[in-house]
Amino acid sequence: MKDQTPIYNITPFTLLDYPDKVACIIRLAGCNMRCVYCYNPEIVLGKGTINFEKVLEFLKLRKGILDGVVLSGGECTMHSKIIWLMKEIKAMGFLIKLDTNGSRPLMIEHLVNLKLPDYIALDFKALPDKFEAITGSDLFENFEHTLSFLIASGQKFEVRTTVHSDLIKENDLERMMRYLSLMKYKGTYYIQQFVNGVPTVGNVGHSISTFNMQDIVSELENAAHSRYHIDLVFR
Ligand code: SF4
Repeated sequence: MKDQTPIYNITPFTLLDYPDKVACIIRLAGCNMRCVYCYNPEIVLGKGTINFEKVLEFLKLRKGILDGVVLSGGECTMHSKIIWLMKEIKAMGFLIKLDTNGSRPLMIEHLVNLKLPDYIALDFKALPDKFEAITGSDLFENFEHTLSFLIASGQKFEVRTTVHSDLIKENDLERMMRYLSLMKYKGTYYIQQFVNGVPTVGNVGHSISTFNMQDIVSELENAAHSRYHIDLVFR
């Protein structure tokens, strides 16, 4: 049964994926999107290889060593045992960061109401005119419900966008900042560049690093601060 082994792999140690925390990453297989630039086709299209018991055994040995656990994927909120897993992880004293594409607003709402995630990273793939072409899904409205709920909830979270130069241009980013501002998002907006040279779900071509050009970065940062009151961070 899929849910008996939903875990694709574990990264035992990371200093980069949970802000200011020492963490591990647990990746759950499967996703309801097919982002063309996705670096993890084997996780999105593949099956889990590790069962829950093994994961809990691993975590028991990391008590006092790790601060937190990043639950990622794929889209980890798709799994029916995610609530159970998060409760187990919390009971062991770990903080939880949840990575999500925002496509399951009711599940996110449920998890937040149960106070299970300590931090959420929400992917903002694109605005509606490009959403389907980039994600292979029609889930923008779901994303919007999740964003809207998280803004109203007081939950600690960040919004992040991956930029491939063929897919998201500077004017798209400005429109996305305007959208976040209209939604009354007040947190940090992370822009991460697509990393070339890795297999992707959609076999996308080479991305040009336009954000190495200082004038483009400065213009976007100025717009973020002066027009949209958003803290824009390139990483
Ligand atoms: S990048 Fe897209 S396809 Fe890949 S795991 Fe995230 S949401 Fe799924």
